[in-house]
Amino acid sequence: MLIIGSHVSFGQDQILGSLKEALSYNANTFMFYTGAPTNTLRKAINPKFTEEALTLMQENNIDINNVICHAPYIVNLGNKKDLDKYEFSINFIREELKRCDEMHITKMVLHPGNAVGISKQEGLDNIAEALNKILDGTTKCRILLETMAGKGSECGCNIDELSFIINKVNKQDQIGVCLDTCHLSDSGYDMSNFNAYLEEFKTKIDLNKIGCIHINDSKNPLGSHKDRHENIGIGCIGFTNLINIIYNEQLANIPKILETPYIGENDEDKERIYPPYRFEIAMILNKEFDPDFRNKIRTYYKK
Ligand code: FE
Ligand code: FE
Ligand code: ZN
Repeated sequence: MLIIGSHVSFGQDQILGSLKEALSYNANTFMFYTGAPTNTLRKAINPKFTEEALTLMQENNIDINNVICHAPYIVNLGNKKDLDKYEFSINFIREELKRCDEMHITKMVLHPGNAVGISKQEGLDNIAEALNKILDGTTKCRILLETMAGKGSECGCNIDELSFIINKVNKQDQIGVCLDTCHLSDSGYDMSNFNAYLEEFKTKIDLNKIGCIHINDSKNPLGSHKDRHENIGIGCIGFTNLINIIYNEQLANIPKILETPYIGENDEDKERIYPPYRFEIAMILNKEFDPDFRNKIRTYYKK
């Protein structure tokens, strides 16, 4: 069975709220940030919400091992010119892994880091060194390094860079990769030839390292290095290519997570924006693109 879900929020009742939102999209998995992705203010995990969520997951046949946590994207393991910031990032990720353990989450997605002002190679070395400090065997959760679009000085925007980091990590069972289709296309991998990408991944890393796939269309053409996500089927990757990736049998058991933009951002009434996931998941399950899906979303949520 296809394991499909989306990014959801993490509100007052924490993972329980995330789960309920995911269920409203007919998803069988989900991904959340433990707070705002742009800051590092975090509340303690409340075991009451976790327990209730685990029961509700069981009732809905959702496997906690397919549920993903995403680390905030402002921590940076790539640069240690500001040593305090580097060490803060290391400690924050450690704490985040502990929070994952408390919620029984086994996979955490992490943007590897940015070199900013130093060479790519130094950035990659800093990241590997940081990961070895973080992964000391005290948590069960795996870190999945996300494939990046190559915006600015981002590290991890091709197979060679990710392979370099992964090879230097001591705790091999705790490190993996999260593919992002928008980022892959923006970084120059042609998603109409996804099997070629997987072949290279097999020879340089290992398909077993793939722990999650972010399914996004891209607002920009192949190799643009922009990182702007688009709704399924209306971007430069296109519906057919995304369906082929989602249903690729080599990745059948890997959770697929949508991070596509909300609908209505370009409407006159900008206050009213709607999540696209219920409808995108339906199109994915039908394997059929509905050219009118954005209007259907507006109608569905307006009533
Ligand atoms: Fe990400
Ligand atoms: Fe992503
Ligand atoms: Zn992105």
